Amino acid sequence: MAKVLDGVEIAAEIKAEVAAEVKELAARGVRPGLAVVQVGHVPASEIYVRNKVQTSEELGFLSERITPPETVTTEEMLDVIRALNDRDEIDGILVQLPLPKQVDAKALLDAIDPAKDVDGFHPINAGRLQAGRPALAPCTPAGVIEILKRSGIPIAGANAVVVGRSDIVGKPAALLLLNENATVTICHSKTRDLGAVTRGADILVAAIGRPGFITPEMVKPGATIIDVGINRVTEREEFDRFFAGNEKREAAFEKRGSVIVGDVHPAAFEIAGAYTPVPGGVGLLTIAMLMSNTVQAARMRRGL
Ligand code: NDP
Repeated sequence: MAKVLDGVEIAAEIKAEVAAEVKELAARGVRPGLAVVQVGHVPASEIYVRNKVQTSEELGFLSERITPPETVTTEEMLDVIRALNDRDEIDGILVQLPLPKQVDAKALLDAIDPAKDVDGFHPINAGRLQAGRPALAPCTPAGVIEILKRSGIPIAGANAVVVGRSDIVGKPAALLLLNENATVTICHSKTRDLGAVTRGADILVAAIGRPGFITPEMVKPGATIIDVGINRVTEREEFDRFFAGNEKREAAFEKRGSVIVGDVHPAAFEIAGAYTPVPGGVGLLTIAMLMSNTVQAARMRRGL
């Protein structure tokens, strides 16, 4: 029976550690500050931002939510970022993606002070990560590493295969695994005979954005599967392909008209040695690592 790598438990552990650090910093007169910039009203962003702000408040951060209108220009957004860069009490700046079409997202991310770049998307932090130097690492890939380490899954020497090469997930996940001494292969949409590559994985990270894409025959029995994917399934036919006979999911689908599925077909988990469930896996770590990065930024900016 495959071991479930429980994101709820691990995220709670990390948040408790962050809370302890916040207390320690408070004794030195420091309160970590996180500013979240959310443009317009994308429903998914609303939920993510609410969770981020709520968690940062629970942990005792100074927490700010800035909500420019949907019509905001790049120049106006750059002014918002510059003002946050200049404020000493703000340690972390996060711009919630996606942004409206008229806004140049890259220009904004490049304008964030790298010392306050708690999402780890600035080229300076990407470069530091690449060079194996201390860096604010992107939250989701950092969460992948935490899950592996805290679950006692050996990374050094393991064959790690990352499917997906985005700047936000796949690429940094591969670099972090490499920095932990895994032998890393990165796959993408042009990879030939993907299954042959993924079957060689001791650790398989799926960050593709396609529901249930990794099927059982693509997985080595006993492998550790980290499923980063978050996909909403609304069609009955697709639902049945993943969850036919699963009473709990059936009830959820009936109630809400949709369920969340990862990039890995649930049947593939059955032959794994260990896996992260969706929901309840990597997703929860993303917010926990954002909190951890904000405390790290608060310390580093003050030389603590
Ligand atoms: P992107 O769309 O930016 O990247 C997807 C990657 O998958 C690309 O590199 C693409 O290859 C590759 N890919 C697409 N189709 C195939 C295929 N047929 N075979 C092999 N590779 C393929 O997605 P993200 O990296 O932003 O996100 C990936 C997933 O992770 C999504 O489900 C997203 O919702 C989820 N996510 C979850 C988070 C969390 O908190 N848990 C946070 C962020 C994302 P190519 O480069 O060649 O196009």
